[in-house]
Amino acid sequence: MARQYPFSAIVGQEDMKRAILVAALEPAIGGVLVMGDRGTGKSTAVRALAALLPAMDAVADCPYGCDPLTPSGLCFFCDGLGKDLQTLKASVATIGKKTKPIKLKIIKRPVPVVDLPLGATEDRVVGALDLEKALTLGEKAFDPGLLARANRGFLYIDEVNLLDDHLVDLLIDVAASGENVVEREGLSIRHPAKFVLVGSGNPEEGELRPQLLDRFGLAVEVKTPSKMQDRVTIIKRRDAFERDPIAFLAEWQAQEDAIRQQLKVARKKLPQVKVDDKLLEQAAILCSHLGTDGLRGELTLLRAARAIAALNGKNKVTLEDLKAIAIPALQHRLRRNPLDDASSSTRIERALAEVFPV
Ligand SMILES: [Zn+2]
Repeated sequence: MARQYPFSAIVGQEDMKRAILVAALEPAIGGVLVMGDRGTGKSTAVRALAALLPAMDAVADCPYGCDPLTPSGLCFFCDGLGKDLQTLKASVATIGKKTKPIKLKIIKRPVPVVDLPLGATEDRVVGALDLEKALTLGEKAFDPGLLARANRGFLYIDEVNLLDDHLVDLLIDVAASGENVVEREGLSIRHPAKFVLVGSGNPEEGELRPQLLDRFGLAVEVKTPSKMQDRVTIIKRRDAFERDPIAFLAEWQAQEDAIRQQLKVARKKLPQVKVDDKLLEQAAILCSHLGTDGLRGELTLLRAARAIAALNGKNKVTLEDLKAIAIPALQHRLRRNPLDDASSSTRIERALAEVFPV
C-alpha cells in the first residue's frame, strides 16, 4: 500500500480539516462539499483522515465489508453465509456430532476511500447485472459497484459540480439512507452503503444546483495559500515526504497519534454530549436571522456543534462550538440577496456578531 501523507502535516486549511473530522465523526451530517482552487490538498486530506481511523472488523469475502458486530445491518451476501452455516449446523446436529457456534469469518480492513471518477457510468456506481455470469452460466448475479466498496468509508468525488445532476442526486440519496437499492435488468438488490460523501469542485468551472448544494451537510471554501511562508512550508514538507516517506512519517508520528486519540475519545463521548434548550434557541435565532430555509440547516448546525464539542472533549455544547461550525453548516443554504453582494461567509459572520454580541 502506498504511504499516506499525514493529516497533521497538511499546512493550514483548518476549515476543511475540521469539516472532514466532523463528518467522519457524525456521518448523519450528510458529507462535506469542498469548493475552491485545485491543488489545495482536498483529496490528500480525505485519504489522510481515513488512514487515521482504526482498521475495521469486516466479514471476510463480503463485497460490502459488513460489520459483524451489527447483525441487523448485514447484507444479503452475509445473510446467505449465515443461512448456509445454519443449514450446515442443522445437518451436523442431526447426525449427532458436536457443533461449534456459528461464526462468520472476520478480517481487519482499512477504512475505504473510494474515488468516483467523472466519467463513471451509473452501472459502475450503483452496480449492475454481472454480464459474464449471465452469459456464461445463465445466472442472474449482481456485480457490486463503487457504492459497495465505499460502505463504511468515504466516497470522494472530484469536480462534483461537473457530474450529472441525476447522479449527484442519487449519491446524496444513498448517503442519506445508508442503503443502495438497485431495481433493474430483473435484479432487485439492496445492500448497505453507509459512507461519508466528500465532493470537491471549482466553482469557476460550473455551479451546483442550489437544491443539491443544500443537501450536503457542510460546505467549506479552500484557497491556495497566499502567505509566502505557508507556501514554502508546503513545498518543503511535500519534498521531504516524497524523498523519504518513512522518516517523514516518523517525524509526524506523535501529532498523528494525538489526532487518532482525539477521534477515539470524541467517538466515545459524542453520544453523551448534551445540548440544552438555550443552545437550540440560539441556533434557531441565528438561522431565522439569516433566513435559511427549512430545518435542515438548524439540524446540521446542531449535529455539527455537538461533534465539535466532542472533539474538544466537552460534555456539553456551548455557543463557542456553534459559532465555530456555523459557516460550514450554513453558508451553502443562504439565498442570494440582490441587495447584499457580500459573500455568504461574511453574511454569517455579521449575523453572528449581531445576534450574539460579545
Ligand atoms: Zn455483507
